[in-house]
Amino acid sequence: MSGWEAYVRKVVPYVPGEQPGQQGVIKLNTNENPYPPAPGAARVLREFDADSLRLYPEPDCGTLVRAIAEYYGLSPEQVFVGVGSDDVLAMIFLTFFNSEKPICFPDITYSFYDVWADMLRIPYRTKALDASFRIRKEDYYGESGGVIFPNPNAPTGELMELPEIADILAHNRDVIVVVDEAYIDFGGESALPLIGEYDNLLVVQTFSKSRSMAGMRIGYAMGNAKLIRYLNDVKYSFNSYTMNRTALACGVEAIRDKAYFEETRNRIIATREWTKGELKKLGFSFGDSKSNFIFAAHKTVPAQEIFDALRREQIYVRHFNKERIDNYLRISIGTQAEMETLIAFLGSYLTALSEDGQSSDGHCETEQEPENNRE
Ligand SMILES: *Cc1c(COP(=O)(O)O)cnc(C)c1O
Repeated sequence: MSGWEAYVRKVVPYVPGEQPGQQGVIKLNTNENPYPPAPGAARVLREFDADSLRLYPEPDCGTLVRAIAEYYGLSPEQVFVGVGSDDVLAMIFLTFFNSEKPICFPDITYSFYDVWADMLRIPYRTKALDASFRIRKEDYYGESGGVIFPNPNAPTGELMELPEIADILAHNRDVIVVVDEAYIDFGGESALPLIGEYDNLLVVQTFSKSRSMAGMRIGYAMGNAKLIRYLNDVKYSFNSYTMNRTALACGVEAIRDKAYFEETRNRIIATREWTKGELKKLGFSFGDSKSNFIFAAHKTVPAQEIFDALRREQIYVRHFNKERIDNYLRISIGTQAEMETLIAFLGSYLTALSEDGQSSDGHCETEQEPENNRE
């Protein structure tokens, strides 16, 4: 090892879901939206004046900040915009999680939290979800350096109701509580109305899921003006021009098009509920997901086997090789047609398996309830 290697900031990076290059795959592995962005975003790109790229973009992201503020009935001082919510969350970790005390988040959750904490040397403690994969609010009552959790949680899809979130906030008045609402538009109630009452609350959302713009990288945080000011101070000390001109312009169009947003979101919710019914008939169990994915285990066939079989069919889903959840598949909600293809394949695959009474690796199947049999 060379001398300098002792001083490298060594990190174990977050591993994003695969982005297969080939055509014709059904991609249900990274919770992207199957529908295109709002038509106004496409128009911005078609009519974009490339000459304007000579100039730096607005450092305060003002046009987009104002459009988001207007949409939610906030003042622009209450909104912070970044390069996807991953960037926003990283800035939040850097700005607010600066205590000697550990921050707290669930043991099963978005797997970026521990990566940021490790990288920024923020101590942390994880709190185990209960047997039905729900967050226990009492676990977050003690002293800590801050609290963060997604609502609905990922990859479980479990939603927490607002009174429970308010309860966590009330028990953590002296630290920042971050509610990561990447999936809130698919059937949950946002904690946003609580920002007036709790000056320690940051609500983080993204254009990547419900607004079909994962490729554009737009995320935002909402909270009281003082929090947003601290966040901007750190951002300007790190990179003043986070958002490029095309992202700012497309973002404004996407947030203004309420009708398109409602239509595509409702379609995904309807397809999700249809998919739940079909998966249940096929012997899968899962919680009542309020997100754009379903986290499901099969009653007899191990998740890894189903994952491999789906992959051979060019259907990509997500499997986490992690304790407690390694028998689950996270299946993003695609178009109705994509989900029908998935269900049709699973139907014939599982029927064929049960007919020869063998699993695909040749072992005899034993009836085995998944560790966490939830409905
Ligand atoms: C997808 C996701 C994000 C990040 O999304 P961006 O594309 O960076 O906006 C953040 N948190 C959770 C829980 C997510 O699932």
